[in-house]
Amino acid sequence: MIFNNIKIIGSEGPVNIRVSDGKIAEISSLKIQDNRFAAQQLNFDNALIFPGLINSHDHLDFNLYPQLGNKIFSSYTEWGEHLHEQYTNEIVDILKIPTSLRAQWGVYKNLLCGVTTVINHGELLDLKDELITVFEDTHVIHSVQFEKNWKKKLNNPLKRKQTVTIHVGEGTDRPARQEIDRLIRWNLFRRKLVGIHGVAMTERQAKSFEAIVWCPQSNFFLLNQTAQIDVLKKHSPILFGTDSTLTGSWNIWDHLYQARKTGLLSDRMLYHSLNQNPAKTWKLNSGEIAVGKDADLVVAATKKDKAGLESFFAIDAEDLLLVMHKGQVRLFDESLLTNLRQLDPDDFSKYYIHGVCKFVKGDLPGLMQQIREHNPAIDFPISI
Ligand SMILES: [Zn+2]
Repeated sequence: MIFNNIKIIGSEGPVNIRVSDGKIAEISSLKIQDNRFAAQQLNFDNALIFPGLINSHDHLDFNLYPQLGNKIFSSYTEWGEHLHEQYTNEIVDILKIPTSLRAQWGVYKNLLCGVTTVINHGELLDLKDELITVFEDTHVIHSVQFEKNWKKKLNNPLKRKQTVTIHVGEGTDRPARQEIDRLIRWNLFRRKLVGIHGVAMTERQAKSFEAIVWCPQSNFFLLNQTAQIDVLKKHSPILFGTDSTLTGSWNIWDHLYQARKTGLLSDRMLYHSLNQNPAKTWKLNSGEIAVGKDADLVVAATKKDKAGLESFFAIDAEDLLLVMHKGQVRLFDESLLTNLRQLDPDDFSKYYIHGVCKFVKGDLPGLMQQIREHNPAIDFPISI
């Protein structure tokens, strides 16, 4: 497939990009002549192409919950207790839905916004025919205060080569600060640690982490505060995460809007928290538009008065024109329907987001129906 006349962030004029065998094969400012792709050309106008987003923190099977919690908490432990006291019925109603259905929706939640890789935090999910990369090649430890035997798990000699991913310092109180020091002190093999949230984290503590996953919307919802990302970034790469809908919007673009408003990261650093930083941390061959990289790509319509990163941060889910995962089209806008004749329409389902018609791979209406058979009250952010 060839993408013609498309803008890349940081490059002057529009370029043409050829994708072949799941990889980016060619990027050129000149017309790409390749007869094999004569019927697979997409011509754009005022469109931006960027690497598929990498969401470095989510719990895929928790994305049918509404946001739960009606006050400001001092830590995740206080919030956890509050959930189980106040929302027992809500939790039971969601847990009635089988995990695999909930996780499949979690995949769509990400895909519909242009996320092509999600780092899942939780039990291993056995998802088939993944539409995006569900990255689970990391040793997940929930947190110091909620994971039983965390010291033993952290110091399991059989896992010492694997990166540990752990919620850490998710609070504004003393125990939240102290648990970070306990984690660092008990990391006897000096395993690579990726810390999620780090709201209570200091500059000194940040030096002990391979990367920090920033989830500002979740932090503000729970704690009305977020991590000191503007100083932590000097010591550790920053990755971006949404967490689940228990603490935030389903839409990563809402999270980015809120993140940008804090002013804690420059636009460039915030952008890199979604692509090149996580690609490096998780060792992915994506996160960059360059020859040889996986063709995890998103094309979005841009607003006329915006350029460069301004145009990137003005995007919302309805602006996506096409999402490609490892060279396969996963989602496209109705306006591309006639240009994508080579795709089998039966493989895709139609949906509307904010009144705009899109097509996505797989039977999304069927999934929504199956979910509603277990819980008719579920409210989805899209319509069929
Ligand atoms: Zn989490």
